[in-house]
Amino acid sequence: MIQNERLFQLNNLPVKKGPVVYWMSRDQRVENNEALIYALDMARQSQQTLVVVFCVDTSYPGANIRHFSFMLLGLIEVETLLNEKHIPLVVLKGNPPQKIVDFVREMNAGHLVCDFDPLRIKQKWLYHVAKSLRIAVTEVDAHNVVPCRLASAKVEYGAYTLRPKINRLLPSFLQEYEVIEPLPKHQRIQITGESLEKLLYDPDIDHSVAEIKDVKAGTIAAYFVLQDFIEHKLDFYSTKRNDPNEDFQSGLSPYLHFGQISAAEVAIDVIRSGKNAASVAAFLEELIVRKELSDNFCLYNSDYDNIKGFPVWAQENFRKHRSDKREYLYSLKEFETANTHDELWNAAQRQMVKTAKMHGYMRMYWAKKILEWTASPEEAMRAAICLNDKYMLDGRDPNGYAGIAWSIGGVHDRAWTSRPVFGKVRYMNYNGCKRKFDVAKYIARN
Ligand SMILES: Cc1cc2nc3c(=O)[nH]c(=O)nc-3n(C[C@H](O)[C@H](O)[C@H](O)COP(=O)(O)OP(=O)(O)OC[C@H]3O[C@@H](n4cnc5c(N)ncnc54)[C@H](O)[C@@H]3O)c2cc1C
Repeated sequence: MIQNERLFQLNNLPVKKGPVVYWMSRDQRVENNEALIYALDMARQSQQTLVVVFCVDTSYPGANIRHFSFMLLGLIEVETLLNEKHIPLVVLKGNPPQKIVDFVREMNAGHLVCDFDPLRIKQKWLYHVAKSLRIAVTEVDAHNVVPCRLASAKVEYGAYTLRPKINRLLPSFLQEYEVIEPLPKHQRIQITGESLEKLLYDPDIDHSVAEIKDVKAGTIAAYFVLQDFIEHKLDFYSTKRNDPNEDFQSGLSPYLHFGQISAAEVAIDVIRSGKNAASVAAFLEELIVRKELSDNFCLYNSDYDNIKGFPVWAQENFRKHRSDKREYLYSLKEFETANTHDELWNAAQRQMVKTAKMHGYMRMYWAKKILEWTASPEEAMRAAICLNDKYMLDGRDPNGYAGIAWSIGGVHDRAWTSRPVFGKVRYMNYNGCKRKFDVAKYIARN
C-alpha cells in the first residue's frame, strides 16, 4: 500500500467499473514506482485488468534522438519487466492528452492513474485529460521522496524554507515497497500499440544531435551507477564533488530525470551504506532538498523559465542594469559552437555537446557567463534553456529550469554586492575557478 498523501485527484469523479489504466510518463520504472503500485492495488481490489500506457510525443519541445533513445531503451526494459508480471504495456505515438483520452475511452476504463509532473506542458496535458474524461483521474507523486504538493502549498523562497518542511515529513516517506507480484495470468487487450524498437528509428524524431552510446539506459544500469557511486565515490562527495576535473558526483541525473530509478530508493541505499556522514548528508541535501525545491519552483511559479519568475529584487535589479555595457556579446550560434573568447567556457560547452553532461560546478559558471555576454537577461534565459534542453541528457527537467533561474536570476539565492550587468545576482569569474581547480587541465580534457 502507498500513502494517501501521494495521491491527488485531478477531477472529482468516481471510479467506475472497467479496467484500471496507468498512464506512465515521468516515472518510467517498474520497481519502487508508487503510481504503478497504486494502480495495481486498485485493479486487484476491484478485480479489474491493469493496463499501462505510454505515449511517445516525437515533437516534445527540445527533445531529440539523444533523449528519445535513452528513454526508449529504458522503456524496452520496462516492457520486459511488466511482461514478466503479466501486465501489458501499450505504446502510443502522438499528442499525449488526446491519445490518452481516446485510449481510455476505447478501453472503457474505470480509473486513470497518472504521474505527477510540475512542468507547464505536463500540467496542461494532465488537466486536459482529467477534464475530458468522465472517470476518476488520480495523480500519484512517485518522483519526489516527500510528495511535492504535501511538502509545501506555495512557492518557497529557498532551500532554507523548504528544508525543515521536508525533514519533518521525511521519515514517513523513506520507505521501500514490496516487489510487485505478478498478476495471475496474462491479460489480453484488444488494442495494439507501437513498437518501441521501431520508434528508435522514427523519422519524426529530430536526429540533428548525436546519440550518446556510452551511457546505458534503464533501471538495471541505474542500479550499477548507484552501486559504483556508493562504493567508490560517496565517501569523498562532500570534499571533492565540486572539482570539475574529478568524478565524484553520482551521474544519476539522467536516470532520475526519466524516472528510471526512484529517488527514495537511492536515498535509502545511501543512508544504509555507512559511508562518511558528512558526504551522506551533502548528497541527501542535493538529491532531496535541492531536487524537490526545483519541483516546488516549477509547480507554483508558472514563469519558471522566464525573467518574470525571478524574485522581485532581481527583477528590479535588471531594470537598473539593462543598459550596462557588455564587454562581449555572442549569438546563440556562437555559444552553441563554443566560439567565445573564454577557453574555460568553451570547454564546458564542448563537454555538454559531446557527452550530454556538464560537471555541476561548471553549469553555474556556464549559465552566469551567458548572462554576462548577452544583451538582456531574457536573451540569456532563452539561450541557456535552449542549449541545456537540447544537449543535456538530464535536460528539460525542473532541476534545469531552477538551476538556470538560480544562476541568471538569483532564484533561491540572496542578493550580493552590486556590479555591472549582474546587479546583485551572484557573480562568478575565471579567476575564481582558477583558485578552485586546475582550469588548464579541464580545458585540455574537454
Ligand atoms: C545552470 C544549471 C543547469 C542545470 N541543469 C540541470 C538539468 O538540466 N537537469 C538536472 O537534473 N540538473 C540540472 N542542474 C543541477 C545539477 O547541476 C545536476 O543535477 C547535477 O550536476 C547532476 O549530476 P549528478 O547526478 O552526478 O549529481 P549529484 O551531485 O550526484 O546529485 C545527485 C542528484 O541530486 C540532484 N541535484 C544535484 N544538484 C542539484 C541542484 N543544484 N539542484 C537540484 N537538484 C540537484 C540531481 O537530481 C542529481 O542527480 C543544473 C544546475 C545548474 C546550475
